[in-house]
Amino acid sequence: MAKSPEVKLAVFGKAGVGKSALVVRFLTRRFIWEYDPTLESTYRHQANIDDEVVTMEILDTAGQEDIQQKEGHMRWGDGFIIVYDITDRGSFEEVAPLRTLLEEVKKPKNVPLVLVGNKSDLDHIRQVTTEEGERLAAEMACAFYECSACADEGGVVAEAFHELCREVRRRKAVQ
Ligand code: GDP
Ligand code: MG
Repeated sequence: MAKSPEVKLAVFGKAGVGKSALVVRFLTRRFIWEYDPTLESTYRHQANIDDEVVTMEILDTAGQEDIQQKEGHMRWGDGFIIVYDITDRGSFEEVAPLRTLLEEVKKPKNVPLVLVGNKSDLDHIRQVTTEEGERLAAEMACAFYECSACADEGGVVAEAFHELCREVRRRKAVQ
């Protein structure tokens, strides 16, 4: 039987922010332009993080779920990535309510979380500044990355996923 995943990660954020593109970039190091926006998928992946093999299961949510479905995904996960699109202020405004729901569902636990501002290649039509992203991440006490699923230079996308895995494992170690 397959070894059960050590780390269960769920990716949240408004539909269209690039969740599927980010997950596929992380898994394949490639960018694919179009996905069915209503699709929800899970992937298993192994990565070498700090010289240790980490098995992860990644849930790429559709971003259109009702609250019960969101709560179900939150109960399932150990760690979470909340994604917004730097060219869509509405997607940034959906971050805080998602985080509030996460806290509700997971309390009293302190939830491993990473905030990602995607589509940094579209800087010319940016609606959310880097400083706003940094400030929100500071308020939520989580790591923050601005990146581009389609032009990921320097492996920032992988770094965001790896940092979340580290965070999950750190918290598990102290439980
Ligand atoms: P999801 O609904 O959050 O899963 O979003 P998708 O991954 O389906 O992406 C939505 C749209 O944004 C698609 O047309 C993607 O090609 C596009 N997209 C995703 N990531 C990026 C990015 O980093 N830069 C640009 N320019 N487009 C992106
Ligand atoms: Mg998607």
